[in-house]
Amino acid sequence: MGIQELTQEIRKNSIRKIDKKSSQESSASWCGEDLLYSGKGKAIFIILPTPGCNWALSDSGGCTMCSYIADSPLEMVESDVLIDIFQNLMDKHKIEGKTAVKIFVSGSFLNPKEIPIKARNEILKILNQYADAEEIVIESRPEYVTEEVLQECCNLLPDKIFEVSIGLESSNDYIKKYRINKGFSNEDFENAIYIIKNLKLDYKIKSKAYIFVKPILTSEKDAIDDAVASAQYCENVGVDRISFCPATIHNGTVMEVLWHRGSYQPPWIWSILEIIRKVRNSVQIPVIMDTSGFGTRRGPFNCKKCNKKFKNLIIESNLNQSVPEEFECECKVKWMADVEFSDATRSTTNLTK
Ligand code: SF4
Ligand SMILES: [Zn+2]
Repeated sequence: MGIQELTQEIRKNSIRKIDKKSSQESSASWCGEDLLYSGKGKAIFIILPTPGCNWALSDSGGCTMCSYIADSPLEMVESDVLIDIFQNLMDKHKIEGKTAVKIFVSGSFLNPKEIPIKARNEILKILNQYADAEEIVIESRPEYVTEEVLQECCNLLPDKIFEVSIGLESSNDYIKKYRINKGFSNEDFENAIYIIKNLKLDYKIKSKAYIFVKPILTSEKDAIDDAVASAQYCENVGVDRISFCPATIHNGTVMEVLWHRGSYQPPWIWSILEIIRKVRNSVQIPVIMDTSGFGTRRGPFNCKKCNKKFKNLIIESNLNQSVPEEFECECKVKWMADVEFSDATRSTTNLTK
């Protein structure tokens, strides 16, 4: 059975079990400190309800580690409802001082089948009225990134940075195809980045790449090497900013099935620190490391003594773009053994933990 058939089967089963949520239940917002292009500031995170990522709902089954569709109402949300939800969520926050607004749609903001064009344009018009909202960040797969759509968006936000985030996950096409089931190649990604770069003469448009740390069937050492190589590739092709997403186990995914069978383990936090050090020393563009799920059973893990300390260190390193200080903990030797022997044992999971 190929990766697509497997993903498709697991996805179908998991969709059957999903408790459908209402549009209200599928929306949320929160705010926090963040690093903007102009320095430290605030970010407002908005989650909007959509019918779900087209790629995940297609015959492909979607990406092997992602279960965002479980958070979607799985039906089209009328533009007017979506606009109201968006405005209500924005009203919960004070937009004062340097602020980035990040819109998450559990899929592609630029796909009209997920976010209708009317809603997309109204949301951007609303955002344009907030003087302190310097950056508007959206996510999209590369196939929806066209010059025409981007011009339409940027014209509605003439003085703001408009950042298009694309989940590249890995610069290795083999990994994308056979371990992530991503459904696009480096060439598709580069075409999207090229379109964004060409619009920079006229607009304050930027690109961001998400890089996934430790896809399935990848040893600890290979996960580190792939993450670092992917960051270097992104800088070379002209990406403006990178956000690393270390694996956490989502429900109803191929990754979860392998994890239950003992054939997959999320990365060590030591590996994450190693990636940050290597990338800070070789890449000039801003690099953020997502710390969600750190220290939990389903997320990146070291040991109970040091999980929290390293998580805080990484958050600080995100804001300052600093190289985290060296710390020791007794769990480090186990990580070193995993990195050293993961190739020799051909193990895709940790030897001990
Ligand atoms: S990672 Fe992105 S493209 Fe892949 S299934 Fe999830 S939402 Fe869709
Ligand atoms: Zn430890």
